[in-house]
Amino acid sequence: MGNFKTLVDKQNKFFHSGTTKSISYRLAALQKLRNGIKAHEKQLMDALKADLNKSEFESYTSEIGIVLEEIRFIQKHLRSWSKPKRVKTPITHVGSKSYIYPEPYGVVLIIAPWNYPFQLAVAPLIGAIASGNCAIIKPSELTPKTSAVFGNMIGEIFSEEYVSVVQGGIETSEALLAEKFDYIFFTGSVSVGKIIMEAAAKHVTPVTLELGGKSPCIVHEDADIKLAAKRIAWGKFMNAGQTCVAPDYLYVHKNIRDVFLHQLGLAIRELYGEKPLKNPNFTHIVSKRHFQRLESFLQDGEIIFGGEKDEENLVIEPTVVMNITWNDPIMMDEIFGPILPVLEYQKLSNVIEGIQQHPNPLALYLFTKNEQLQDEVITGISFGGGCINDTVYHLASPYLPFGGVGSSGVGAYHGKGSFDTFSHHKSILKQTTRFDLPFRYPNMKNGLNII
Ligand code: NAD
Repeated sequence: MGNFKTLVDKQNKFFHSGTTKSISYRLAALQKLRNGIKAHEKQLMDALKADLNKSEFESYTSEIGIVLEEIRFIQKHLRSWSKPKRVKTPITHVGSKSYIYPEPYGVVLIIAPWNYPFQLAVAPLIGAIASGNCAIIKPSELTPKTSAVFGNMIGEIFSEEYVSVVQGGIETSEALLAEKFDYIFFTGSVSVGKIIMEAAAKHVTPVTLELGGKSPCIVHEDADIKLAAKRIAWGKFMNAGQTCVAPDYLYVHKNIRDVFLHQLGLAIRELYGEKPLKNPNFTHIVSKRHFQRLESFLQDGEIIFGGEKDEENLVIEPTVVMNITWNDPIMMDEIFGPILPVLEYQKLSNVIEGIQQHPNPLALYLFTKNEQLQDEVITGISFGGGCINDTVYHLASPYLPFGGVGSSGVGAYHGKGSFDTFSHHKSILKQTTRFDLPFRYPNMKNGLNII
């Protein structure tokens, strides 16, 4: 672990050489990253299987394919995004022209979590490279095989003065945070996010914090019940519920509760089979400690679907729980596992009030065909982002900046959002020397001073 001053100094020196400011250099680096990922695809899939038992399908769609697509999108637009933009100039500034110059921050630190250990380390790196920065990435220690493949891959394609991976746990993060960075991008829990923000404050370093929280999912009485059940089962139980934007809990309208829960059971069986514990492609819980924490939630309420578990293999079946209140432990913290509590409601206004009394969710999902209700929820509750009549999918669009609000996060990224996040937007006024308006000066005389 030790001291990272030498590495940070090396990257600072490289950054100040100006090499990374060239757009061709950035585009070539993105291409190298893309080729590197393709070359390591099999190794990455094997590592994700070993760390979390992720299936090849999930590994490709949610870890590898998604970042390849992000690189492709950014490569296509980078030249246009990185040009200085001419903007309007007010009449008071007559004679001058106004521009916004995007410029890289310098050396950035990226700290990643374990739940999508490859995607969440690489996606911010793509933004950092596109914007012309150098980067040090600390992947999660809880997925050591994936973090090792990622580290080796980066070591093969980039020099450490440009992009470097540092392996380790909390002490390593702490040692990195003792150094001065120009930007810190953190993905992880709210509690660690606060530690990162405090460390960044010492150097007034700007941050993006991609955090978590309890993301509600509301199923109204006019919803397409079968479709809602399938899309919720998919969004909740992929990666065994270990997804920051997974629906954390459901609010289901009383009039459709039973028919919806029946459909939800059918959808879970359709996606994961009759015996998910025996399904070789169902993601495992990351560690014994996380397993035991989730297991303790099964004591609350009444299990109406699933509930079987296997501690040796760290698997918990997709489980649906009813008769839950906000005072149960399962409702006090982000669940981050394959357990779905169900609350019922009669009036949507009560749901809105209930959610408003809790920290701002990272995501919110609403199933209804009623556009007025859609607007009421979208404008009435503050949350990071979400979907109407779907779950999770908003995260995969490069046109939608992804991030939280309040305790679910600070800032956003993906697509143009990533380029903007890792760039400082420098405002420049280019003034004329042909004349000098006197109004701004004390003791001004009327009229125009023609020079
Ligand atoms: P975590 O906060 O425990 O760890 C994240 C990273 O921080 C790891 O690399 C870890 O080594 C490091 N870390 C842990 N403790 C630290 C400390 N005291 N000081 C400095 N660094 C420290 O999070 P996790 O358990 O890996 O991930 C789960 C959490 O991440 C959930 O809350 C989830 O919602 C959130 N998450 C958010 C997003 C998002 O995009 N918003 C995505 C994935 C996960």
